Amino acid sequence: VNNMTLKMPYQCFINGKFEDAEDEKVYNTINPTDGSVICKVSYASVGDVDRAVAAAKDAFENGPWGRMNPRDRGSLLYKLADLMEEHQEELATIESIDSGAVYTLALKTHVGMSIQTFRYFAGWCDKIQGKTIPINQARPNRNLTFTKREPLGVCAIVIPWNYPLMMLAWKSAACLAAGNTLVLKPAQVTPLTALKFAELSVKAGIPKGVINILPGSGGMVGQRLSDHPDIRKLGFTGSTPIGKQIMKSCAVSNLKKVSLELGGKSPLIIFGDCDMDKAVRMGMSSVYFNKGENCIAAGRLFVEECIHDEFISRVVEEIKKMKIGDPLDRSTDHGPQNHKAHLDKLLEYCEVGLKEGATLVCGGRQVDRPGFFMEPTVFTGVEDHMFIAKEESFGPVMVVSKFKDGDVDGVLHRANDTEYGLASGVFTRDINKAMYVSERLDAGTVFVNTYNKTDVASPFGGFKQSGFGKDLGEDALSEYLKTKAVTVEY
Ligand code: NAP
Repeated sequence: VNNMTLKMPYQCFINGKFEDAEDEKVYNTINPTDGSVICKVSYASVGDVDRAVAAAKDAFENGPWGRMNPRDRGSLLYKLADLMEEHQEELATIESIDSGAVYTLALKTHVGMSIQTFRYFAGWCDKIQGKTIPINQARPNRNLTFTKREPLGVCAIVIPWNYPLMMLAWKSAACLAAGNTLVLKPAQVTPLTALKFAELSVKAGIPKGVINILPGSGGMVGQRLSDHPDIRKLGFTGSTPIGKQIMKSCAVSNLKKVSLELGGKSPLIIFGDCDMDKAVRMGMSSVYFNKGENCIAAGRLFVEECIHDEFISRVVEEIKKMKIGDPLDRSTDHGPQNHKAHLDKLLEYCEVGLKEGATLVCGGRQVDRPGFFMEPTVFTGVEDHMFIAKEESFGPVMVVSKFKDGDVDGVLHRANDTEYGLASGVFTRDINKAMYVSERLDAGTVFVNTYNKTDVASPFGGFKQSGFGKDLGEDALSEYLKTKAVTVEY
């Protein structure tokens, strides 16, 4: 596909219109497959944030969205999902070019799950209900308390670059279904599908000001969103350090509600009694899915000693079969890393692993071709104190440690000995062991004999320094609602 054939919006989307950033500043968005410039994109400034927030506030307070019959709001979100489906190949192509995700995955997951997410939350619009509550009163049967669940107002959404459209969908769909208006900042390096989405929102008939999208930097646009006094909530997905900074700014400015989906170092425990074929297949997908740029990626594999060597040699055999190349090529398994700085960080991560004395079984280098490709990598002999055992790579690096045969409590202790708690996994054929381990793994998601199986109906979010607040499922809706209790005496 020739980039030139793709007609893409590239400006800020404010109050239902595409327009230049206030000072007409632009920046280049880069194709990670060859390092070329895809197009210029507006670089929003603080003034643009203020205009977008004012538009979102006006749309919330005076526009039809918040007070719309929820069924009609649902219909508009269904329409938006239908339009995304109509344009799914185009969206997947843009996503693939901008983020390096292989096209087949972009179509199925990045775009496919985004469509499902909008449909799922569209269905919630007319099912947001309160309760009636018996209260302690002097005049029995003459008092009533009922609760109403109301939208918060203007919400900000700040997202990372690994699943640009899906991260937008996970947060925006719940936010909009609840009746809020929003201002979203995509990651600077992957703004294009968010802007295409804005274009589709106009076609779907979403009223102006309800959705505003500002490409630009975290330091400027993201920071202003955190500080802005007219924003009631900020939904964030990204790294733990930035999440902490955002929470601080949100507290100091006006005590905004926040939800934080942050980093992880998810453990995957593979017992000797597992289904080996499945453990190899899913163990690989736990690390190499979306070239490792996957927040729930298994950051550390604990493999029982009795199967350790066989597991590793089978993984290495499978890696040899992986086709690395142009992500638009339908037969490619492994595309380029998202951007150059990320590739450099990954190469450095591998160097640290080597210096620490871990064994590099394969990979660890940049692929010898243009673009930002990294070889799928395996480290074994990783000890608990090592940097690569503790820190997330966010790339295609399998970090493997052995554990003694039968030492279930020992491996559980090591698996939980991390500041993160996003996801985890266990492979075993023994149902009792699986239940025992899944109860004790301290993470927001536990996969048993599978991995990466997220569903729009199931809550997603971490424990500990992986953040709090859920995306997806009914829980996500609550993140974008407030509860009012009305007490009546009659
Ligand atoms: P990041 O550096 O934290 O950036 C995330 C977003 O925050 C970007 O849009 C960024 O803008 C913006 N940002 C940066 N500084 C900011 C500030 N001071 N105020 C407000 N916003 C600011 O993370 P990343 O490197 O893009 O993404 C990788 C991280 O995301 C990993 O740690 C990964 O685990 C995590 N992640 C978590 C989940 C989850 O669900 N838990 C999902 C995906 C990714 P720029 O575009 O200018 O950088």
